[in-house]
Amino acid sequence: MIGVTVLGATGSIGMSTLDVLKRHAGRYRVVGLSANTEVERLAEQCRLHHPDYAVMADARAAERLRERLRKIDDNIEVLAGAAGLETIAAHPDAACVMAAIVGAAGLVPALAAVRAGKRILLANKEALVMSGRIFMDEVRLHKAELLPVDSEHNAILQCLPTLRGKALDELGVKRILLTASGGPFRTTPLDELRRVTPAQACAHPNWEMGRKISVDSATMMNKGLEVIEACWLFAVPAERIQVVIHPQSVIHSMVEYVDGSILAQMGSPDMRTPIACALAWPERIATGVQRLDLFDVARLDFAVPDMGRFPCLRLAYEALAQGGTATTVLNVANEVAVEAFLEERLPFTAIPEVVEAALSELPSRAASSLSVILEEDARARQWTRELISHKAARAH
Ligand code: NAD
Ligand code: MG
Repeated sequence: MIGVTVLGATGSIGMSTLDVLKRHAGRYRVVGLSANTEVERLAEQCRLHHPDYAVMADARAAERLRERLRKIDDNIEVLAGAAGLETIAAHPDAACVMAAIVGAAGLVPALAAVRAGKRILLANKEALVMSGRIFMDEVRLHKAELLPVDSEHNAILQCLPTLRGKALDELGVKRILLTASGGPFRTTPLDELRRVTPAQACAHPNWEMGRKISVDSATMMNKGLEVIEACWLFAVPAERIQVVIHPQSVIHSMVEYVDGSILAQMGSPDMRTPIACALAWPERIATGVQRLDLFDVARLDFAVPDMGRFPCLRLAYEALAQGGTATTVLNVANEVAVEAFLEERLPFTAIPEVVEAALSELPSRAASSLSVILEEDARARQWTRELISHKAARAH
């Protein structure tokens, strides 16, 4: 039995992961589950999956979970906070760790799994955006196995002969073609974007996801974060990654080779496919995903992204070119701005304005250690919060 820890079990990726694990109960065993504050949902997951550990990032929520589990299963040990997350991420019984906490909060627990030499199924792209070089160095140092769950990067993995060992040049790879649906506002008149509501931004045409990544998809910051993620995962410069708008979300990304071949990975837009792919890699396991009917799809469209409509994509390329802690700042400024938008404290079109201001006001430093990254994250978080409250005060 392969032991699995799921960090961020109560989220969209976490729930899809547990769905796949449940279908293969003879192959996988759940060692640890974590959530931030969702006590009822984690308690229900504990009842179904009987993990050894359940961790609430929030200490008071941990107390409530302990209370709830007393009636359900008193063999489950409840832990709290950063130490609890680290315990289940690095636990000797877990060979595999799903890193599916959203945002910057996912970095330290994912690194704990890396340092314990696990197979890491990486959904938390923000970890690589914040600290790409350090993260990848740690993966190599501790001989961890890093497998992407993000559907595009998982597609690229599937279109490459091997992820590790050889450089992409040696494999004859010319370019990576990173597909993007364009989100819910691909064709919305630009002057209507200012009044977009959180509910509209979270209604993605093809994917059901958590709220933060849904907004990131609507601004296309998600694609910017994914370009940065791909640079680190596959050791390619940004110039060799072409973003391709593909509204049907049927091709999940492509690899173009020097001989003229383009390999694509296709499937229904359902995260259980890349999750199962990374879990069982290089084997294949069933997922319950609805098979893709090509006759239903009928056609595939491709277009160049419009940087004017999606300034967040341009900002991601700029941060990447600046290097150092610029992508750490990009990530946290976006996270804080998206949170303010979701709480209706900031208009949709102010998200790129806030990120752009943070990038120009907070000069990039060398990303020399994890503590520099965490310091920069905290500093830029504070700075961005203040900027947004000043903006709100001015608006009143
Ligand atoms: P979500 O909001 O649905 O779930 C987030 C999970 O993280 C929850 O379990 C929550 O309890 C936990 N969490 C939130 N804040 C936390 C904190 N401060 N400390 C500890 N735990 C915390 O998010 P999601 O859509 O499942 O996305 C998770 C990650 O996967 C993100 O990084 C996202 O970019 C990435 N991803 C998601 C999808 C998707 O389809 N949902 C696709 C590709 C990549
Ligand atoms: Mg993706």
